[in-house]
Parts: sequence; C-alpha cells; structure tokens
Amino acid sequence: MTTMEQMPHNKFQVCAPMSADSESDILNTICKEVKAEGKLTGKNITRLYEVFGQRFTKAFEALKENRVKKYTFKPSGRVVWVVVGKERDYLIMPDAEFCTCNDFYFRVLDRKIHLCYHLIAQKIASILEWYEKIEEHDELYEPLMREWRKPTP
Ligand SMILES: [Zn+2]
Repeated sequence: MTTMEQMPHNKFQVCAPMSADSESDILNTICKEVKAEGKLTGKNITRLYEVFGQRFTKAFEALKENRVKKYTFKPSGRVVWVVVGKERDYLIMPDAEFCTCNDFYFRVLDRKIHLCYHLIAQKIASILEWYEKIEEHDELYEPLMREWRKPTP
C-alpha cells in the first residue's frame, strides 16, 4: 500500500476546495505507474475511479471506443488532440490542460478545479499510446480548428 491509496474515499464530500493542481498531480502520479507497468492494472483502475468517479468511467469508455485521436498536420508537424464525444468533437490542449467542453468551461466560471473526462482520457491515451493516429495536410488545420473551437451550441 502506498500513502496515495490511503487517502479518504469521500474526498468529494469535503467542502474545502482542492488545491489548484491536486487532481493533475494525482493523475500524473497514477500515469507514472501506468507507464511503468505498460498497461492499466486493476489497481490503477480502482484508484482512478476512487478519485475521478464518473469522469473516469467516461474517460475509460472513450479509450475503449478509440475516441481519442491524435492529429498530426503535415508538413508542419503540428499536433492536435481531439476526443470524439456523442454530440461533437472536443479539442484538447494537454499542456495547458484546456478542453473545449462545457464541463471545462463551467468549471472555470465556477472556479471549480477539476479535470474534465476528455483531459483524463487524453492523458491516459498518451501514456499508453492508446489513440488513433490521424495525419492531415496543413491546409485542413485552420478549417478543422475552427470546427473544434466552436462552443457547444
Ligand atoms: Zn473536456
């Protein structure tokens, strides 16, 4: 048992907001283990579910359904991550922990600090190389970005 596993399971019922990057920190820690193992173990899955609940369930579904896409634009080599959702595609900027979904948008308005399921899915996908690789010509970069950046209607 590591100390991480001994954290209380009911942390979402705690009133005090979590620190700005605690969810990211936890996800990064788990991802290091996942990387070392080369796969998601039962232990990782349990832990991810404890921390992220339904968001992990949805992220895991997206992974299993191969809905995480890594677009590489040629010849520039620009990389864009997208998670295909039920209604639309979501643009992910992993370095900025940015996503175009409503969950992300409202959490910023509410000053709630949490990762949306797209960010969780992308992170796990990138660690395990569990994503679809798509190559597109640079000419399609702008039109696709315009589409992905649209707010959800
Ligand atoms: Zn999102």
